[in-house]
Parts: sequence; structure tokens; C-alpha cells
Amino acid sequence: MDFDDDDKRVFLDWLATQDVSQRCESCNTQTTRWRMGQNIIQFAAFEPTTKGVSGRTMPMAYLVCGKCGHVRLYSSRKIGIPVKRQSGLSSDALPDVIW
Ligand SMILES: [Zn+2]
Repeated sequence: MDFDDDDKRVFLDWLATQDVSQRCESCNTQTTRWRMGQNIIQFAAFEPTTKGVSGRTMPMAYLVCGKCGHVRLYSSRKIGIPVKRQSGLSSDALPDVIW
């Protein structure tokens, strides 16, 4: 499931209040066009004593550099975006964001 409008607004407002640089740290483009991921992704903790992934995860919101594709990850909990449902990855065209 995609972010709803409230989730997108929370993410954009959070970016604006955190003084997050718009310069891409990968390609060094000063005013790159960042694209907002349309859903939450999760990293799962690696548990070497089990087969597969553990149930411990970190939900993340992300931005993608419009020039080089570098991905920035942010804790959705820190931002305040609730994890409402399990979501898949979206690699469809992502909208530009400006904060
Ligand atoms: Zn870049």
C-alpha cells in the first residue's frame, strides 16, 4: 500500500524542519530533484541462529536522487509516519519532492 496524503505531508514537513540538505552526497548535485518513495520499506535484523529473517524490523521512509539514484533512508518512527500495513516496494515513477 502506498503512502496516503497524510503520510506524504508528515514526511515533507519533517524534512523541512530538520534542515536536511538537498545536495546529493553521492553525485554532489547541489539541487537535485529528490523523489519520495511511495511506501514504507523495512530492514529485517539478521539472526544467524535462525533460518530466514527475524521478526525484528526497522521501518524506513526513503528518497531517491533524481540524477544518480542514490537512496536516502529515514526512520519512519522518527519521522512519525505510522506503519499501518505491510507494504511492498514501489519502483514505479516517483514524484519529485521539495522541502
Ligand atoms: Zn545523486
